[in-house]
Amino acid sequence: MAGIKFFTGGNFFMSSKYVAVIDQGTTSTRCILFSKNGRPIASNQMEHEQIFPNPGWVEHDAMEIWSRTQDVIRGVMSKAQITSENISAIGITNQRETTILWDKFTGKPIYNAIVWQCTRTQNFCEEWQKKPGWTQNDKGEGKVKNITGLLINPYFSGTKIRWILDNVPGAREKAEAGKLLFGNIDSWLIWNLTGGVNGGVHVTDVSNASRTLLMSIKNLEWDQEMLNELKIPRSILPEIKPSSYIYGYTTDAGPFGGKIPIAGDLGDQQAALFGQACLSEGEAKNTYGTGCFMLMNIGDKPIQSKNGLLTTAFYSREKNKCYYALEGSIAIAGAAVQWLRDNLKIIDAAPDTEYFASKVKDSGGIYFVPAFSGLFAPFWDMTARGSILGMTRYTRKEHLIRATLESICYQTRDVIEAMEKDSGKKLTALKVDGGAVINNLLMQLQANILGSEVIRPVVNEITALGVAYIAGLAVGFWKDEGDIRANWAIDKIFKCESTEQDREKNYNGWKKAVEKCKNWTN
Ligand code: ADP
Repeated sequence: MAGIKFFTGGNFFMSSKYVAVIDQGTTSTRCILFSKNGRPIASNQMEHEQIFPNPGWVEHDAMEIWSRTQDVIRGVMSKAQITSENISAIGITNQRETTILWDKFTGKPIYNAIVWQCTRTQNFCEEWQKKPGWTQNDKGEGKVKNITGLLINPYFSGTKIRWILDNVPGAREKAEAGKLLFGNIDSWLIWNLTGGVNGGVHVTDVSNASRTLLMSIKNLEWDQEMLNELKIPRSILPEIKPSSYIYGYTTDAGPFGGKIPIAGDLGDQQAALFGQACLSEGEAKNTYGTGCFMLMNIGDKPIQSKNGLLTTAFYSREKNKCYYALEGSIAIAGAAVQWLRDNLKIIDAAPDTEYFASKVKDSGGIYFVPAFSGLFAPFWDMTARGSILGMTRYTRKEHLIRATLESICYQTRDVIEAMEKDSGKKLTALKVDGGAVINNLLMQLQANILGSEVIRPVVNEITALGVAYIAGLAVGFWKDEGDIRANWAIDKIFKCESTEQDREKNYNGWKKAVEKCKNWTN
């Protein structure tokens, strides 16, 4: 799918200045131009192929992603009738953890990109978990957590790099001879945009590096103990830089057709947190897409979670100074709605959930726990499986649809409760974004289940906006974080309409349902 969109009428592009963002996501790549008031002006989007070579394996063709990136850039520039002169800075935000190894002399990847969702290293991770000291004990402490803030899980880049080095013929020899480069999608695009084999810069930022399992969360450098354990040569790794920083310049021969500073780099969830202007400690956002990603700004200290959350770098604007986030990832959120549509076929399209779920006053006492691929945060039980509990002959499809929407909200509450325990702070309002937040009933149910306000902002390109800000701040396009707060505007606030008694009774039912699903495939 390709689509060029203009968000405003009139042809006033030629004299203006913009920040251009490349938003390289799991299913598509977009280029979006942002104006000074933080509004998207024009965008262009193209999808790329999802490659599934074996059950549970997910790959992308990194050359196709580079090619789509060039296409969307050229498309948006030509439609908006602008040149590189109109662009003050470029920001890059990306699907995180996805892993590419390429030959630095030919510029060609030696294997497809291994995508964040890919579970091919599950067995490796299970073996690693058995090694004493590496995985968390009952107190949530272990070497991997202490060093990286993460868990042993195929989700992160480290074991994917190891897989390529062990399984692609000649890969390890090439790596040891200094011929290979590793990067997540951000590094791959920056290297190509700054000249590739002709002097491309090999860099990443702290937010992306913090998802590799290889960076020390405390000193923001590659950690030798992790590299040794995973047998990854340091020479293949990019240099870790701040997120708001001039990494290099695009080339005349590249898709922008001129020299523009690449000045921002942020992983997609961190970019959404920044775009939501969650710039003070304790502020949090939840993104409702295929899964849910909830992040809370925890300030400049990497607090370790004792409650099943990840500690991750949020962003950095100067060397050795970093802001951190606690993250709760939920694997199945909007994907449960897709399951109602594609597998049960009880809705035709995702928005139908709002219509059917509003036909009943509640979910008729049922709970749907969509643990299709286990439970992620805060439980991390990969043996849990999806279940519908509490059904009677009274149960109708409307109840199940409503229970599906509620399951997204209950999972979010589970993560928020963990965040509140870790941070010692009570969340009074939740900022939301992502494809599913257009569902007003979902948002109302979320407010009722949380007992707090849910705030939906005006701009829905929040992720891209976040890295536009990060890039714009590096070149003075925006002055300071005050500009960012001033640009953030509310579309709608959903206020809690439930009583505390009902809320807690219903949530206790959910907790009981979750317990029933755990430890299923063992
Ligand atoms: P991603 O970035 O993960 O691909 P998006 O942010 O584009 O996801 O959101 C798409 C997800 O949101 C899909 O899983 C879809 O089922 C869900 N979704 C989209 N619209 C609605 C809606 N109106 N109600 C409920 N879920 C929705």
